[in-house]
Amino acid sequence: MNSEDFANRMEEQRTFFQRGRTMDLGFRKEALRRLEKGVKEHEKDILEALRLDLGRASVEGYTADIAPIYADISFILGRLGRMIKGFKVPTPLAFAGGSSRIMPEPLGLVLIMGPWNYPFHLLLRPLVGALAAGNCAVLKPSEMAPHSSALIHNMIGEIFPSYHVTVLEGGVEEATTLLEQRFDSIFYTGNPTVGRIVMEAAARHLTPVILELGGKSPCIVDKDANPRLAARRIAWGKFLNAGQTCVAPDYLLVHREIKEALLQEVQSAILEFYGEGPQESPDYGRIVNDRHFSRLAGYLEAGRLICGGQTDKEDKYIAPTLLEGITENDPIMHEEIFGPILPVLEFDNLDEVINMVNRRPKPLALYLFTRNRKNQLRVIRETSSGGVCINDTISHMVSNNLPFGGVGESGMGQYHGAASFYAFSHMKSILRASSWFDAPKYPPYRIDLTWIKRLMRFT
Ligand code: NAD
Repeated sequence: MNSEDFANRMEEQRTFFQRGRTMDLGFRKEALRRLEKGVKEHEKDILEALRLDLGRASVEGYTADIAPIYADISFILGRLGRMIKGFKVPTPLAFAGGSSRIMPEPLGLVLIMGPWNYPFHLLLRPLVGALAAGNCAVLKPSEMAPHSSALIHNMIGEIFPSYHVTVLEGGVEEATTLLEQRFDSIFYTGNPTVGRIVMEAAARHLTPVILELGGKSPCIVDKDANPRLAARRIAWGKFLNAGQTCVAPDYLLVHREIKEALLQEVQSAILEFYGEGPQESPDYGRIVNDRHFSRLAGYLEAGRLICGGQTDKEDKYIAPTLLEGITENDPIMHEEIFGPILPVLEFDNLDEVINMVNRRPKPLALYLFTRNRKNQLRVIRETSSGGVCINDTISHMVSNNLPFGGVGESGMGQYHGAASFYAFSHMKSILRASSWFDAPKYPPYRIDLTWIKRLMRFT
């Protein structure tokens, strides 16, 4: 498909949007129900595509890629009627008798670009917000999960007419051509390097962007943490999808006093989760491709192995690995790891940890294991991150009541639950002026400035 074909496809969507059908509450609800039904009908195919692309176990496929789509749909369906009406706000005294309201309006035609690691969740969950807010959408799945991409293409083609939602598959070339088009919003999930490319392309049309990026999410374990519980929750969050999760704990900062106990427990957890040979475990995933495999294998050259370290290039397998003897200067501490390797650094007091986190780009998530409320509050206040999860990993992104997104290098804009609706809406301010009261605002100006000063204080 060339640039002209893209433009024609988009024109068809714009024409449909301008007819106003998507403004209708019933139409939006129906679209969400159709999406839910379509995903349900393809559940088996989705799990199979995830197995082929990422070696993902069905339970992980369902909980991480399918269930969040249903949860968002049902959350939004229950509130959409109220949300599309907007809300009243007070009106200044100078406009007495008038009324003020903030009403959401759809943005128009939105582009949603997804990555390969949770290919259904990260494309269709934003779509829930886009549809609820009354937009038309173009979806661009990642070429790096080809089975998932093909399925999304066919599935969406069955569920929606292409003038409402359409899927354009392809790699960098297609993505580049797509980004030349004018959209009313671009929602991109992926790495920060491409995030910059997306933002530059969007700037040409003054298109707003939401960027859901990644980064190095620290995991801090203080000396009063429960080592067994912390270890299980860290091992689960880190080795889920073989570490290829945007909010996976990237590196571990553990208090010297608890280090040994914690590391013992992490190893026990790995054994309990995946057995003696994780390569044989049906619950342990694979690295997405050879490029990422080689990158990750390279990290194993620094530091000392605590456990794991086995690799199999043919099978794109890297064992759950703990590394120590790492310094802040090692390459593994510069880039987001995005794989099943956990570097372990130790600390003696919380100041060191807070300084270290603050020296680095703002992460997408920050994990803190401690029962000490004062220290919890201190870390929350003195560091900046997209979100914080205390005494667990990843779980903060499950709740539909907690908007999800990054800050600084880890992204901009938020979604999930109601935030998804607002992410794809323009909040339009409306003042209905009264006809019976006409403020004396016209020239020639006879009114005393003292009065104006008093009145304008109440705007
Ligand atoms: P990816 O390589 O699949 O890229 C994402 C999308 O960008 C794809 O659709 C791809 O076709 C497109 N793309 C790639 N190169 C491009 C280019 N040069 N120009 C235009 N488009 C291009 O996925 P990825 O970036 O490897 O994904 C992993 C990253 O995403 C990690 O950094 C991870 O932390 C982050 N991530 C963030 C979230 C989140 O919700 N914040 C979720 C998942 C992943």
